Amino acid sequence: MKIKIAEKNAMAASHISLDQQETPWLDIDPLIAATILNCLPIAVWIVDEQYRLVVANTTYQRARPTCMPATPQAGECMLPDDSLPKCRDHWQQQYAHAVQGEHRISTIDGITYYFQPVTIKHFGKGVLVCTVQDTTLNLAIEAMPDPFGIYTALRNRSGKLIDFQIVAVNSAFCQITGYQQHELIGQRLLDLFPHYHEDGTFADLQQLLKTGEPVRRITTISDRSGTPRTFEVHAGKFNDGFVASWRDITAQYQIEHRIRQQAALLDQIADAVIATDLNYVITGWNRGAERIYGWSAEEVIGKPLGSFLKTQYTNTTMEEAALVLHQTGCWEGEVEQQRRDGQIVPIHAVVVLSRDENGTPTGIVAVNRDISERRHFEQLLMKANQRLEQAIIDARRQAAEILLVNELHDLLQVCHTFAEAAEVVAFGLERLFPRQYGYVMVRQAGTANLTLLAQWGDGTDAPAMITIDQCWALRRGLIHRTCPHESIRCAHISPNEHHCTCCIPLVVQGDIFGLLYIAGEELPRSELIVMTGDTIKLALSNLALRATLREQAIIDPLTGLYNRRYLETSLSRELHRAQREQIPLTVAMIDIDHFKQFNDQYGHDAGDTLLRELAVIFREHLRQSDLACRFGGEEFVLILPGVNQATAQTRLQHLREVVQQRQIIFAGAPLRPITISIGYFTCEKEEIEPHILLQRADAALYAAKRSGRNRVIDFSNLPTLSSDEGDK
Ligand code: GH3
Ligand code: MG
Ligand code: MG
Repeated sequence: MKIKIAEKNAMAASHISLDQQETPWLDIDPLIAATILNCLPIAVWIVDEQYRLVVANTTYQRARPTCMPATPQAGECMLPDDSLPKCRDHWQQQYAHAVQGEHRISTIDGITYYFQPVTIKHFGKGVLVCTVQDTTLNLAIEAMPDPFGIYTALRNRSGKLIDFQIVAVNSAFCQITGYQQHELIGQRLLDLFPHYHEDGTFADLQQLLKTGEPVRRITTISDRSGTPRTFEVHAGKFNDGFVASWRDITAQYQIEHRIRQQAALLDQIADAVIATDLNYVITGWNRGAERIYGWSAEEVIGKPLGSFLKTQYTNTTMEEAALVLHQTGCWEGEVEQQRRDGQIVPIHAVVVLSRDENGTPTGIVAVNRDISERRHFEQLLMKANQRLEQAIIDARRQAAEILLVNELHDLLQVCHTFAEAAEVVAFGLERLFPRQYGYVMVRQAGTANLTLLAQWGDGTDAPAMITIDQCWALRRGLIHRTCPHESIRCAHISPNEHHCTCCIPLVVQGDIFGLLYIAGEELPRSELIVMTGDTIKLALSNLALRATLREQAIIDPLTGLYNRRYLETSLSRELHRAQREQIPLTVAMIDIDHFKQFNDQYGHDAGDTLLRELAVIFREHLRQSDLACRFGGEEFVLILPGVNQATAQTRLQHLREVVQQRQIIFAGAPLRPITISIGYFTCEKEEIEPHILLQRADAALYAAKRSGRNRVIDFSNLPTLSSDEGDK
């Protein structure tokens, strides 16, 4: 049994068979072994633990390693002598490993040896060494043009496969790895190609040993100089190991890699890349096309393009586009295409003719870009532009309008009278609202009536007067807009008015001041209307206020007659005019007789009533050109331009009589009649100072009082005073 095992082992040495993994340590009887070993055509020898010869076969004599003893005796040390220290070391190492139980293959001087750990009867641990070089096999391997190698399994003591060791390689393999043959033989596979562990190659080889299933792998390895090369490796089971042939596919692999990269690139681009042959049968359809149109490459390739894509040309026809494509080799334009889900997509297409190396067209390639988003943004941009342009136009128009409103405001500020203001308002509104028409009405103070101030445009006629009740805007204090037949119309608007209307109440400090009425086919923007209304109402109310203040400055509040200040300015003016026009001018001074008594009798209020009533009488009897002033207390001055002495006498006498006869009612009861004294002076052609005029009238009044009151005295008739005296 033992012989059988040994025989089998020895016989199998050249095949590196290691079937007896259960007992890696062979039990050897040296005597029996010698008999068998002598029959083998290869050199075999066995050493003990100290590397001393136990037995060597007869072939050893012929085929021993040259460094080994030629005719060793049992017990002789089987190491090269000290003259070959390197070689000796090497052998020693191999023995040592094998004694430790390691199966080893080692190439020494071009010959491969197999080291098998053994247990030798009577000796204990030892090593069986045999040559494994099979010249025939090596020659056959060498003849192969592709890299080729034989590998044997390396197992640990419990029989687990731990690696493979190179048994034989040909020169082609040496070439691709950059190592020499002797450097490679005995090398471990995982030392040479560590990545075989991770990439599954080692696992596949393990499987190969178990099942015999051949392994085919594409593997990239770096040669000694670090250059990567790609191989297609085929491995098949061979004894307890495998044979592998390597085919260099570096160039092909690189091309394929590039093609794969290009395909990946094509798939990565968002555009649809569609290739067809000249009959529009689809030959290429990238991911972009799948994304845009919804059909997968599998569904469309090999089928006519027209059966999927419906194309609408915007600025041209399909025939024209095809003509351009075939004439120029390229067509570019925008089309609309229908997706699988029926949706229409705007597409920017670049279509080119693909050609072979002779320039003959072979097909068509289209690069189509979905421009929906671009279109969308273009539209947004267009709208934004339009809005911007509109905003600029609006801003310009508004600036112009504001300018006009400001101008209206400035002009109104310098108006002295409502008549002037009316003209300015009409002019301003005409310019502000040229496409509308309307009017401005102003309230009569203290009444519910509004009278027409100004109107503009060619519209219906403005009413001369309206009441607050006739206007919804005035009644509510809010702008009231109407469109024909839509909302309720104000009563002041003509029933013939067929346009839109807008009533703007002009309210100042809570009081209705007036009304701005605008009508037209379309109405101006509200802000402008309001701004204009504000400008008009403030300017007009200012004007009214100024008029009131002016009036208050020159009018006596009790009687409503001009006051003394006004008299002084107007007297000199009237005097100049009379002198310029060469007309007479009469100045009369009037004083109530015994007014103190009257006050005492009836009270001060009754006295005031009397003063007011007197003013009424003056107004009743004065002409347009005459002026009546309250000079102070119960004294009055009348300026009567163009009235000569005689007329003055008559009119003043008449006035005096009227006063005397007038019955005045106070607190429901009649007051006793009163009288007045009047002194006057008529300046005919004389050059005279205004204050002299007054002095003379006063002097005449004084004379009237002295001579008994209730009379009219002309300064010129004063008997006792010369004019010079009276002037003092
Ligand atoms: P004569 O005939 O000399 O003018 O006598 P008279 O009493 O009218 O004159 P006098 O100068 O003594 O008195 C003037 C009076 O006029 C005194 C004052 O009470 C009164 N008076 C002056 N201003 C007003 C006023 O505004 N209202 C009232 N009720 N009385 C006034
Ligand atoms: Mg007096
Ligand atoms: Mg008096």
